[in-house]
Amino acid sequence: MLRALGLVLVAAVPAWGAAAPDGLRLAQRGGDVIDVVTTSTDLKALVAAVGGERVVVESLAPPLHDPHAVEITPGQLARLRSAALLVRIGLDHEPWLARVRGAVNDPRFAPGGPSDVDLSRGIDVLQSQTPRVRNERGVHVHGFGNPHYWLDPMNARPMTQAIADALARLASGEREAFARNRSRLLARLDADLARWTENLAPYRGARVVAYHDSWPYFARRFGLVVVATIEPAPGVPPSAASLAELTARMKETGVRLVIAEPSANASIASQVAARSGARLVTLIPSVGGDPEARDYPTLFEVNVRRLTRTLTGAR
Ligand SMILES: [Zn+2]
Repeated sequence: MLRALGLVLVAAVPAWGAAAPDGLRLAQRGGDVIDVVTTSTDLKALVAAVGGERVVVESLAPPLHDPHAVEITPGQLARLRSAALLVRIGLDHEPWLARVRGAVNDPRFAPGGPSDVDLSRGIDVLQSQTPRVRNERGVHVHGFGNPHYWLDPMNARPMTQAIADALARLASGEREAFARNRSRLLARLDADLARWTENLAPYRGARVVAYHDSWPYFARRFGLVVVATIEPAPGVPPSAASLAELTARMKETGVRLVIAEPSANASIASQVAARSGARLVTLIPSVGGDPEARDYPTLFEVNVRRLTRTLTGAR
């Protein structure tokens, strides 16, 4: 849990902001490009899809990371200082953000501040009634419900609505352009979702075990049943005793699949699969986590393909 404090501020660079990206300079010069910072690559992809040429957007976190320890560079802090919006997942998904806010020290980015966009507000959050310790001091423990809601493509609707509204507040003349961009993304997702659902239809009801509890939204959308997680609670590593109990239960109940992420302990994940007789699949939690997952729709494309391939073998 101490790793919650693992935010690393890389030692000072002489002139902060000296290496501002082209888009940022454009935004400062012309004033017609909206500079946005997001906490994740998924949100970056959604902001880029809605904002189009009218935004420059960067993610503070890389595609694959330990949620407890995201390294923020002075260049990123400078970027946030001059940004018009900070778009984030919310709940307790970004325990490292409190220290970023402290370093930036700008009330615009305080929770609920004029430049703060918390996308969880428009979401029907799962597991919000699950009793868990709420740790205000910043650990990713799902204390306010499950924060991995971007992994249901249908949640792109409320997420992009909030993004479009926030962008239009800054550029009211572009409201229709943002709405058009959003509709184009949603139309594509609707078509893709029909195909993904069809591809996964033969596996509806398949019982799966996830390493970290990242997949309840994804599972609900695609008809998988997450019966247990390898982590006994979010962020808590399993003990030998809990693993033995888990694998015994998996054998008894016919769990077919273990879902891990690249950040999971690979040796534990493969042990659980081997001992229980389930297949192991590594799914990508965020855009950019695989070269093919280059935007929000292709994130699901990659994951649905990996799942169908693994489940075909597991039937
Ligand atoms: Zn989590």
